[in-house]
Amino acid sequence: MKKIQMVDLQSQYEKIQPEVDKAVHEVISSAAFINGPEVKKFQNDLEAYLDVKHVIPCANGTDALQIAMMGLGLEQGDEVITADFTFAATVEVIALLKLTPVLVDVDPKSFNIDLDALEKAITPKTKAIVPVHLFGQAANMEAILKIASAHNLYVIEDTAQAIGADFTFSDGSTKKVGTIGTIGTTSFFPSKNLGCYGDGGAIFTNDDALAHIIRGIVNHGMYERYYHDVVGVNSRLDSLQAAVLRLKLPHLNDYCNSRREAAKYYNKGFSANQHIITPVTEKCGEICDTCNCHVFHQYTLKITNGKRDELHKHLLDQGIPNAIYYPVPLHKQKAYADERYNEADFEVTNDLVKTVISLPMHTELDHEQQDHIIETILNFVG
Ligand SMILES: *Cc1c(COP(=O)(O)O)cnc(C)c1O
Repeated sequence: MKKIQMVDLQSQYEKIQPEVDKAVHEVISSAAFINGPEVKKFQNDLEAYLDVKHVIPCANGTDALQIAMMGLGLEQGDEVITADFTFAATVEVIALLKLTPVLVDVDPKSFNIDLDALEKAITPKTKAIVPVHLFGQAANMEAILKIASAHNLYVIEDTAQAIGADFTFSDGSTKKVGTIGTIGTTSFFPSKNLGCYGDGGAIFTNDDALAHIIRGIVNHGMYERYYHDVVGVNSRLDSLQAAVLRLKLPHLNDYCNSRREAAKYYNKGFSANQHIITPVTEKCGEICDTCNCHVFHQYTLKITNGKRDELHKHLLDQGIPNAIYYPVPLHKQKAYADERYNEADFEVTNDLVKTVISLPMHTELDHEQQDHIIETILNFVG
């Protein structure tokens, strides 16, 4: 059996090695390392793939979130609501910009922001909502847009884990996540679903004026060379990364499908066990073949017999990588704890941190590996 890895980037690279090596060498021989033609070409390709007017590449997914909030002109004291159960980057940039983060509980099935909790958290100071499409699953954007428009709020979609996922509206139409709210952001960190070979990120919007503002912010606030109209940052996707991403983008749908197939196979393997809850997609109730609302950045089980931590150790002992995403809810992290928060409001995240476990999930998993993982888990959980 091939060695099991949490994410197998080597095997994925081997399949596209000749093209990638050629593209990388071309960038090196052209010496157009920064803002070379590859960046613009990738930007155009991604705009076409997502069906969005503007893609603005930047240095990483955390910058993308920060720049999105700067572009919207959010100011000190403005409240920004996001999920308590996400990677820290989402709340970190809110705090860095001296905005007020408001963390809310998540839905126990989808792990995405809880709509009732979201609505309850809105105050006259609320300016924006940051839904995170966690683990690759589209948040309920139709409901979120409705809430946002009723309260005149911006929607910033954190799509770092879900690029390529579709959201299906109740009229049957679909849109790529990240292109539905006011603005979307993503990360091209190597292990993300569309990963480069270093750091990278991007911002998406259909708003021409906002795109213009953001193109200046990523480049030191310059709209005309050496005239700095606003305080900006230096955040660029370099040409080498853009060349890699441009070659990987045509494979993204296949990558998403491989992950969904692997998820289905896991789900089947675990379906009969009463102590294991497999991922449930919010809209469909199962991993359906008719929509692509979940692209399985992570495959995350809930272990309900209190033995999650023991299972985590047992699997590591057996050479099966696995991870706890996330072990502490954000409202309990030292950096973000606040006496405004009331434990009774975080029933779900407080439970998830004790029950979730993420299994190996990537584009190169085979059935032999998955059978071994499933059997080892079932034998242990009983
Ligand atoms: C990875 C990630 C980010 C940050 O992306 P970087 O490129 O690592 O800065 C932000 N939000 C979420 C939900 C992520 O998973």
